[in-house]
Parts: sequence; structure tokens; C-alpha cells
Amino acid sequence: MVGITGGFVEAIGNTPLIRLRRLSEATGCQILGKAEFMNPGGSVKDRAALGIVEQAEAAGALTAGGTVVEGTAGNTGIGLAHICNAKGYRTLIVIPETQSQEKISLLRTLGAEVRTVPAVPYRDPNNYVRFSGRLAQELPGAIWANQFDNTANRHAHYTTTGPEIWRQTAGHVHAWVAATGTGGTYAGVARYLKEQNPGVRCVLADPHGSGLYSWFKTGAITISGSSMTEGIGNSRVTANLEGAPVDDTIRIGDQTALNMIYRLLWDEGLFMGGSVGINVAAAVQVAQEMGPGHCIVTVLCDGGSRYQSRLFDDHWLRQRGLQRPCP
Ligand code: PMP
Repeated sequence: MVGITGGFVEAIGNTPLIRLRRLSEATGCQILGKAEFMNPGGSVKDRAALGIVEQAEAAGALTAGGTVVEGTAGNTGIGLAHICNAKGYRTLIVIPETQSQEKISLLRTLGAEVRTVPAVPYRDPNNYVRFSGRLAQELPGAIWANQFDNTANRHAHYTTTGPEIWRQTAGHVHAWVAATGTGGTYAGVARYLKEQNPGVRCVLADPHGSGLYSWFKTGAITISGSSMTEGIGNSRVTANLEGAPVDDTIRIGDQTALNMIYRLLWDEGLFMGGSVGINVAAAVQVAQEMGPGHCIVTVLCDGGSRYQSRLFDDHWLRQRGLQRPCP
């Protein structure tokens, strides 16, 4: 027998790098999307979740029957729940109640214990991330995944996503573009690619409501507006993002991202989540800035079905002053 994978964990990674045909033709560049929605847990966060669990196992902190606790906007929790089921651990997830119902109910279906909490800023001790850290401390046999500041997260991308992109493009990659939540994906890949070729341009994409664009442009974190996207943007520089190479940053508005999500669906057949709209719109901008003949890689973080009742619902969009684009 050939092509048999030894379980959920081994099915993570080695995702296709998809050429976005229309956008490539329009810009004269190769615009490529790393198909992280094809991971078995459905998102880029399977890689970080696995990296964190394996590091805790190796350190002896996570043992049979133990619990992994995490504060997550959803996808990390989903990845952790799958991996913990496959490996015999329990999962306890703290999630802001503003996150999509699809993700919250999926976590419960997967068997995670889920606590929803009000969405409050990081400086508030009841912020979902800080709350999850306290829960992990109080629970015997538990570890705190701590995806924002546990650098096992970016290390997973440094050792898998980055090398895969380098191999798949045969080293002919000119730019790497991604939005950041924890910063793990962006930083791990950026560091790996820069080590192979310091000329690879690394561009951080940022939605409104996040402070990273202003951090790069001015050195200070200032936040204005908000975004329909989930899982990206930050009000601080995490340990995962700290020290990552950033050549430039691009801010993408929600309507631009939304238009891109629908174009990906109609033109490329790709049904994608909101952060992908930010990533691909930024990749197109980088392609336009660099000019024809360049290869730009970004990440297709998760699929659209997780946002069916939001990004693909006219009423929800209208309430936020967004317009569903016309075919
Ligand atoms: N897009 C989505 C949908 C996500 O859930 C996340 C993770 N929070 C990201 C992008 C950003 O990934 P990272 O945490 O590696 O920066």
C-alpha cells in the first residue's frame, strides 16, 4: 500500500501551493496561496497546535490524560481539540463570545470544554487569553498552550511551512505576505525564507482595528476602526512576532477584503475565510508594487464555511455597512 498516513497528526502540513490564476494574469506575477484550509482540522492553526503539543510532550509537561488549556479565537482550539482527541488529552478552550457561532459549536462538537467570555482588551485580567492562563495554572495536569507567546508556534512554521514554500517554488519566491494573529505563521515563514535568501520581501498585512501597521510605520501602536475579520490583528507585539523580519506593512480595509473573498470564490473556485481576503488583497498590492515577473506567496488560512452566517450573509454584511459584491 502507498500513500497511507498514520493518523490525524501525520496528515497536518504538506499542503498544496495554489496558483491564483486570474490574479496572476492580471498582475503578470505568480500569486500563490498556501492551502492551509486543507489541513485536517481545516486551518493553518493545526500546525501551531501540533508544534505546541509536541513541545509540551517532549518537555514532560503534558502526559497521558492531561489537559491542554487555551484562549483562542477558534482555529487553534479546533486544531487542539482534534489533536488532543487523537493523542488522548482533554481540551479546555476560552473564547470571546463575539466569535462566530459556527466555530464555538464546532469546538463543542469536537469534545472540547468551551467557556465563552466577554471580549475585553488584553490589559483587562479577564481578557480571554489571560483568563485561560489562570485556568491552566489552577487545573492539575494541565498545560497552557499560550499560542501568542509560546514560540513553539512560530517554530512549527519555521520547520514546516517555510521549507515547504521554499521547496514548492524551487527557491523562486520574491515576496511573502501575511496578516498576523499570534504572528506564528508570518514570523516562522519570514525567518526561514530570509535565511534562504535575504532578498525575499516580507510584508505584514494588517486589518483596521489592529495596531501592527502603525507599529511598523511609526514605532507606536495606535488603533482605530475595526474589522469583520477573525483571528488576525493585534494590539501588541507578541513573543512570536518579536524580531521577525518586516520589510513593509499594508493595511487592507474590510470592503476590499470582502470583494477579494467573493472574487476568489467566483473566479478561482476557492471558498475562503475573512483573513484570506486581507492576505490576498495585500499580495496583489505587493505584486503591483514589485511589477510583473515576481512570485508572491501568501496563505489561505481557513475556509468560508466557518463564516457562512457572517461574510456570506447579506443581512450581517449590511449591518456592518459592508456590501456584498456583484458577480
Ligand atoms: N487567519 C485565521 C482565520 C486565523 O484563525 C489565524 C490565527 N489566529 C490567522 C489567520 C493568523 O495566524 P497566526 O496566529 O499564525 O498569526
